[in-house]
Amino acid sequence: MPANALIFLGAPGAGKGTQAREVATHFGIPQISTGDILRDAVKKQTPLGMAAKAKMEAGALVPDEVVCGIVEERIGEPDCQKGFILDGFPRTIAQAQFVDRVLQAKGRGRPQVLDIEVDEDLLLKRLTGRRTCSVCGEIYNVHFSPPKVEGICDKDGGKLLYRADDNEATIRQRLEAYHRQTSPLIEYYRAQGVLHEVDGNKDPETIAKGLLEFLSQA
Ligand code: AMP
Repeated sequence: MPANALIFLGAPGAGKGTQAREVATHFGIPQISTGDILRDAVKKQTPLGMAAKAKMEAGALVPDEVVCGIVEERIGEPDCQKGFILDGFPRTIAQAQFVDRVLQAKGRGRPQVLDIEVDEDLLLKRLTGRRTCSVCGEIYNVHFSPPKVEGICDKDGGKLLYRADDNEATIRQRLEAYHRQTSPLIEYYRAQGVLHEVDGNKDPETIAKGLLEFLSQA
C-alpha cells in the first residue's frame, strides 16, 4: 500500500489523469483532480466556475487560494481517510507548502510523489489529439487510440469533444505555465526524498503496470 497521499506531477498531456485513475481503482482510494473539479464548476456556472473560467481558457493557473480551498474541502471528506490521490495539484510551490501543512495538521506522513516525464513533441501530439466523450468521459486520441468511427464514442455513441483548452495557443500557454510554475516542484520533492520518476513516453498499460508494481512494494 502506498503512502496515504499520492501526488501525480507532470506536464499537461503527460497522462497524469489516466494513470491516477488506474491507481485509484486498484487501491480503492479517491482521485482528486483539480482540473476536473474546475471544469465541472465552469459547466455548472457556479461562482467558483465563473472565477476560474477566464484563467483556464487562457491556459493560466487559477489562483492558489481558490484551488487550495477546493482541495482542503475535498480531502476533509470521509472517503479520503484511507488515502487519496492528488492529480494536477499542487502546481506551485505555495500549493505544495499548503499540502505539507494540511498533511501535518492531519497527522499524516509525507506524500509520495510520482513525476511522469514525457518528451515535448509527444506531449503536443497527446494534447492536440485528445478527444473526450461528452456522455461517459472516455478519453481517445486521434493519433494513438482513435475511436472506430471518427467523432463518436465506441462505448455509447456519444459525441467526442475536445477540451476548450486543447487548442494550440492555449496548449502553448499551459506548457509555459508548467515549466515556469510547476516544474520547480520536482526539485522541491526530490530534496524531501519523496520523488519517484516515471518514464511517461511508454504506452499507458506499461506505465500503469510499472506504477502499480512500484506502489505495491512502497
Ligand atoms: P488540468 O485538467 O489538470 O490540465 O487543468 C486544467 C486547468 O485547470 C489548468 O490549465 C488550470 O487553469 C486549472 N488548474 C487545474 N489544477 C490547478 C492547480 N492545481 N492550480 C492552478 N490551476 C489549476
